[in-house]
Amino acid sequence: RNPEKERLLEAYELSAKLYHFLLKNTEHGTEAMKYLRSRGMSDKMIDQFQIGYAPDRWDTLVQFLTKRSFDLKEMEKGGLLSARHEQEGYLDRFRGRIMFPIHDRSGKVIAFAGRILGDGQPKYLNSPETLLFNKSRTLYNLHQAKTSIRKLRQILLFEGYGDVISSWEAGLQNGVATMGTSLTENQVAIMKSMAEEVVVIYDGDRAGMAAAMKVIPMLEGAGLRVKIALVSEGLDPDEYIRKFGAERFRHVVETAVSTTKFKLIYLKKNHILLEEDGKIAYTKEALPIIAALHSSTEREVYLRELSSELNLSYESLKQDCNLLRQSMQ
Ligand code: ATP
Ligand code: MN
Ligand code: MN
Ligand code: MN
Repeated sequence: RNPEKERLLEAYELSAKLYHFLLKNTEHGTEAMKYLRSRGMSDKMIDQFQIGYAPDRWDTLVQFLTKRSFDLKEMEKGGLLSARHEQEGYLDRFRGRIMFPIHDRSGKVIAFAGRILGDGQPKYLNSPETLLFNKSRTLYNLHQAKTSIRKLRQILLFEGYGDVISSWEAGLQNGVATMGTSLTENQVAIMKSMAEEVVVIYDGDRAGMAAAMKVIPMLEGAGLRVKIALVSEGLDPDEYIRKFGAERFRHVVETAVSTTKFKLIYLKKNHILLEEDGKIAYTKEALPIIAALHSSTEREVYLRELSSELNLSYESLKQDCNLLRQSMQ
């Protein structure tokens, strides 16, 4: 038992309740509520994910925690308050932000992510690392998703909080997200302990695809089966669901592609296949990926696809692939 930790847990739980109440039931929350509505967030999801609002004032939480006799210095250390710069005392760390509580696996609030209303920097402000919160060991929404994850033996891995929430509303309740940092080995180990398969559903822009390329070897290295969902038009999953609806999004997830297919699609984007140079350069990048596959059936599948896509003979591609395999041994 660690009394400081328990006091902090209580403070986080009470703060999450306060922020949620302020969003839903007070004048302070009106503008934030309007913003959430404009983004298509339903009341049901606001409750399900305990979303709140931290008013744009210096002392909402300072007052609240003082009244309940919390030690403000401890609360500053715990990431809820900030020390004033020029003078004694404390002020709220989160001001004028939509508050997403972050829970541990058992459902206790251990941190917040605060999003600014509309544009502005930083877009998200997170709690610092504290006694409670180690972001490299935390997956957003794991406490709610774990039931569905265990049943399906599958995890949907997203980049953002909004993606997890919209996907939940679309009927997919095995979604989690990292904390705005790249995936860590700790998070991979947690996933491996709960599931056999991970579907990576990152943003459909260049950054999202590059991030997906990075997590593939980590997840496969841990022995997880990996698929990549192709979210089109550079949208993120949240935007995709708003634009095309739940059913089409579920289809995108169901038709997630193999990691080999994804790597080939990713590499292809850098080349103009109508030009000889582009065709040859793409082939040079694609063949090592195919050559690395252990199964000859799998190699044949991708070589045949490449062959028809580039209008090259299967035989010559296979020959180059085999040469590569020899040099790889
Ligand atoms: P929104 O839909 O609210 O604009 P998003 O989740 O689509 O947010 P992205 O820009 O795609 O935001 O970033 C993905 C994730 O990266 C975010 O959900 C957040 O966890 C993290 N992130 C983005 N910007 C920041 C930032 N400035 N500081 C910390 N984390 C950030
Ligand atoms: Mn993005
Ligand atoms: Mn996004
Ligand atoms: Mn988004």
